Amino acid sequence: MAIRPIVKYGDPVLHAPAAPVDRVDDAIRTLLRDMVETMYAAPGIGLAAPQIGVPLRVIVVDLSVGADPAQLIQLVNPELLDGDGEQRQEEGCLSVPGYGGSPARPARVRVRGLGPDGTEQLHSGTELLARAFCHEIDHVDGLLFVDRLSPLKRDLMKRKLRKRAREGWEE
Ligand SMILES: [Zn+2]
Repeated sequence: MAIRPIVKYGDPVLHAPAAPVDRVDDAIRTLLRDMVETMYAAPGIGLAAPQIGVPLRVIVVDLSVGADPAQLIQLVNPELLDGDGEQRQEEGCLSVPGYGGSPARPARVRVRGLGPDGTEQLHSGTELLARAFCHEIDHVDGLLFVDRLSPLKRDLMKRKLRKRAREGWEE
């Protein structure tokens, strides 16, 4: 297992849709393990493969950040099946450190994808879990929370972030 560097806003891999995975093989399982380790080390509650520079549709989510193994969700080719209601809470992103925003998200979602063993998994989530699913699935579609803000907030934040990206993200 390995902790991989997290790419930041402005890296093209974060701003383009990722490719579907053809087969869940050992390379994908290694990717999943690295993503989980990187997420826990950050620490974060979710990570998508593009965030470590891998343009594939793979996400991991764990609201317990490793404290409760039962809460770890690893999904290949995740899909939002449906969502209803609306919530708006502050979100952050490991690829946009130091910034936050409150995009509109569904209150409840159902998500489908393949697990590390290649079998189909179905998950439903509310509140923070619903936001985490939407946030990570957005990542594999090349979208960040910033892209979901109201036009005024979005433009303002994008201007700041482009400047940060030009100057370099090293803190
Ligand atoms: Zn993120």
